[in-house]
Amino acid sequence: MERVLIDGVPVFWARGPEPLTAALLFGCGGRDETFRTIGITHLVEHLTMGSLPRVHHDRNASVDLDVTIFTATGRPDQVVTFLDGVCRTLADLPTDRIDKEAGVLTAEGGNYTDPTSAALYSQRLGVQGAGLAPWAGPGYDRLSAEQVRAHAARFFVAGNAALVLTGPPPADLRLPLPPGPRPEHLLPEPMPTAGPVWFEHVVAEVGVSLLGTGGPVWAQGMEVLSERLEQIARHTHGLSYEVGGDVVPLDRDRRIFTLTVDAREGQEAEVAGLLWTELRRMADEGPTGAELADRCEAARELADDPRAVEPELLDAAVRELFGMAYQDPATRLAQRSRVTPEEVRAAFREALSTAQLVVPCGVAPDLPGLAEGGCRRDRQEPTGRVFRPPLLAKVLTKDARGLRLILTDDGVALRDPDGDVHRIRFSEVVGVEEDGAGRTVFGLHGCQVPVDPELFKGAEAAVRAVDAAVPAALRYRRSELVNLD
Ligand SMILES: [Zn+2]
Repeated sequence: MERVLIDGVPVFWARGPEPLTAALLFGCGGRDETFRTIGITHLVEHLTMGSLPRVHHDRNASVDLDVTIFTATGRPDQVVTFLDGVCRTLADLPTDRIDKEAGVLTAEGGNYTDPTSAALYSQRLGVQGAGLAPWAGPGYDRLSAEQVRAHAARFFVAGNAALVLTGPPPADLRLPLPPGPRPEHLLPEPMPTAGPVWFEHVVAEVGVSLLGTGGPVWAQGMEVLSERLEQIARHTHGLSYEVGGDVVPLDRDRRIFTLTVDAREGQEAEVAGLLWTELRRMADEGPTGAELADRCEAARELADDPRAVEPELLDAAVRELFGMAYQDPATRLAQRSRVTPEEVRAAFREALSTAQLVVPCGVAPDLPGLAEGGCRRDRQEPTGRVFRPPLLAKVLTKDARGLRLILTDDGVALRDPDGDVHRIRFSEVVGVEEDGAGRTVFGLHGCQVPVDPELFKGAEAAVRAVDAAVPAALRYRRSELVNLD
């Protein structure tokens, strides 16, 4: 692997299968957004790709939680033209096309990660960083030209870019990006928890997340766990078809790992039970030596595949963008082969208390040792001005009778029909949606509180208090695009 600099951008290249493939990466993804700007990275990508002239060679772009990638495959001159066009467009985005792309993106409904991992990240981090992943936010039509330009100016700059090439850089290759430093990323700490939890969410699969670290012990451990679940769930019980997963960095060393298992309808509780059982078994007994050797063998085969050139270059580029050390495949394989069953057992034993398990809504799993999680709520009503549903609503629906909106000195709270109290302090508000006379307040810990005179008699006073307390930058009118959920 070679590393050179072109126009200040690190370029990683090695000879891979023809034709030439280029991937221009930026250290910017969904976790760099805020609730107010959810989708803005995807919008930058669409504005860029949508303004390039039509061509016949392969090209593509993608955004995940960490990284945005623009790729092209073709003749060297085609790749040079593509990269030049991407860089020039990012330097001066056609923001007059936001309206058009907003509609396209709403219809596309793209995600930065799978929905199950998204729910798990939000449970752990709240509505920030990777925890934004399951949220729709205000909508693409609520992103302004100023916000788009500011996002691009901060993240889509030479100092935050890296290029990967599966052949030597063409002599006339230029990367005319705006200059700019590598940005600081907001790295939220996980919400404090007392122990392992399970929670319901609008997901189709069962999943679990764990706090671990980068490096060979966790790589080996998560792969063994994944293999075991696939064997047990699919072959033994015939309950499940696919085991997936994701990982996001918390900082240079720590990672959030997710593992997802799809389940046939009606079998979700049983699959959740299997997942929890196997996780505890890893913490109690660890993997066998044979299982670890099998994972080394799989990693070796992957590294020997000629198609591995591009993923290897991408790994080096991503690590450079996030200040993480890169190791070549031989070093990584050697490290993997030294991992012992006891090291993996100890790592999982320590992480077991951080387990968070998600099941689809309405599923009631039997999970010994797990408390119920979800948004942050308690049973205690705070002191403040109380608003109740209008009399007619109370007559018509049983649910309305227990419902209360409470305006406190420092925020709002909702007592739901189950008696749970969802409290959002004004300092924890991530967004306020305005819909006519009503407001919906979104909180950092996953709660939503409707502050709406149609739902609560006399709530106009609470609306005024919310509008006065929450900065204008966090308030927005409800999207006019189709239902974003
Ligand atoms: Zn809540």
